[in-house]
Amino acid sequence: MPKKKISKEKSIRRTKHLTELAICAALLIIGAVGVKGVMDRSNTVSTNSYKDKADVEVTEPTEVSTEEFDPNKIIYTSKSVKTKDKFAGDLILVNEDHQYFTSGNEDLVGIYDANVERGLENVFSTVDSSYTILRAAYEPMADMIKAFYDEYQLDTLVIYGSYRSTAFQQQLYEADLAETGEDDSTRVAKPGYSEHETGYAFDFSLYYDDHYADYDGTGDYSWFNGNCWKYGFILRYPESKSDITKIQYEPWHFRYVGVPHAFYMAKNGICLEEYETLVEQHPYSGEHLEFTVDGGKHIEVYFVPSDDGAEETTVPVPTGYKYEISGNNYSGFIVTVYKDEKITAEVETAPAETQPDETEVPEETEAEPQE
Ligand SMILES: [Zn+2]
Repeated sequence: MPKKKISKEKSIRRTKHLTELAICAALLIIGAVGVKGVMDRSNTVSTNSYKDKADVEVTEPTEVSTEEFDPNKIIYTSKSVKTKDKFAGDLILVNEDHQYFTSGNEDLVGIYDANVERGLENVFSTVDSSYTILRAAYEPMADMIKAFYDEYQLDTLVIYGSYRSTAFQQQLYEADLAETGEDDSTRVAKPGYSEHETGYAFDFSLYYDDHYADYDGTGDYSWFNGNCWKYGFILRYPESKSDITKIQYEPWHFRYVGVPHAFYMAKNGICLEEYETLVEQHPYSGEHLEFTVDGGKHIEVYFVPSDDGAEETTVPVPTGYKYEISGNNYSGFIVTVYKDEKITAEVETAPAETQPDETEVPEETEAEPQE
């Protein structure tokens, strides 16, 4: 199958090449005749109108040889993905209806240690050195806080919540029940249902004058509300969406989803639940969700339902473009295509005979390598 695709691509390229040659030849002729026309005019010969008509006739052959070739058209190929990987990735939805299924091997980093490594220990802190977060979320989180610090010189931010094991979530839940005397908690998510268990979320608090204070996202801190998407984060529980998220307004809770998706949600004022539904309405077989991120990146997003009866699900992926795959944690996979980021030196340059390869390796699937 890869061979077939390549030879098809070659023939398209050849056609394109021929078309370009024809256009060049026509342009040369037009150029020559044009120069001649100017010279004729400067010689004050009175046959200009006749010559202009002749020019028009010369251009016709280019139109005849034009073939349909759209260099922006994406060619897709099939990729096998483990069906259970729909429970992993930076776009998984975890809420009271959708439990988080841990793989047991989250790639975590110690925030305190990583801060020391990056020289950020005086920029922001954690409650203690045991706090961890997914590696995929640490760098953008640290970059974001550093950008804020550079702007306001405030070193008051503390990571008050980050990755929690399900056992720790259980402790928090039981402690809250003990405190309130209720059967259910409205403040702490049930074990298995907290976004903190994914490692993609963190909570801010403030520390100054020797005490902690609630982070409310106002004043200088409102910078995060407007800029977090640039680092791939969303304000996960906005005030206006608590009827959908079923969680009260939490100005301190941020969730990593990746820049394009964070941008789309922020600009369109929708929460993660709404976004997941929107993406499901853009399946691979239908119209894809296309948008341009502020700053110019062109993004295409589509949904592929999981083949729940099978070990593997076939996911169409673009050839020659950077893409990411994430599960949505319940019904399938979301593919994100970065249409400005062409991946070179593979299909187009590699000799097809030597390597029956599967083009590029996606960066984002949490899973073990499959090829
Ligand atoms: Zn939180």
